[in-house]
Amino acid sequence: MRLELKDIKDGGLIKELTCTSSDFPVLVEMEQQDEVRFTQPIEFHLRLQKSGQLVEVEGSLQTSMELVCGRCLQRYARELSADFAFTYTPLVTDKQDVPEEDSEIELGADELGLVFYRDECLDLFQPLQDQLVMALPIRPICMGDCKGLCSKCGCNLNTHTCDCVRKPFNNKFTALAELDINVSED
Ligand SMILES: [Zn+2]
Ligand SMILES: [Zn+2]
Repeated sequence: MRLELKDIKDGGLIKELTCTSSDFPVLVEMEQQDEVRFTQPIEFHLRLQKSGQLVEVEGSLQTSMELVCGRCLQRYARELSADFAFTYTPLVTDKQDVPEEDSEIELGADELGLVFYRDECLDLFQPLQDQLVMALPIRPICMGDCKGLCSKCGCNLNTHTCDCVRKPFNNKFTALAELDINVSED
């Protein structure tokens, strides 16, 4: 997953990449922990444009996956697509005041959407892995109104009904509804 700077001509460069989750250690770890399972290859579409020493990248990613709902703990399928942009800038190493550890520099640059390159060579791996991780939902929910699991008997309230939680909940509601009627009738 590398590109030479010289491969990017004046008109820019279109790069299509088909990856799998096994190309990205962070995703492999998430799959091992059963947080996500990628069911399709991950397709990247990148457009790279040189601007002096900088390389502007506009891209999109597309894949399909299975997640575990944070409320009902059921597996559900979801498509993942995202647009992104970042900028490669040369890493200047001949200055005295540049810290030794690259990771520290990259951390700060990350927030600005900057990715460093050196030796005329663009590494696609790290920025693409970052974009994938950012595109993933932080709290996966299978559907907006997922009712989750009953806190007492543990049944899935999307597909089952149980008496333990609903009764007090409904009673309170009924009481409120009656109160409401009484007020409006007075
Ligand atoms: Zn759910
Ligand atoms: Zn229950």
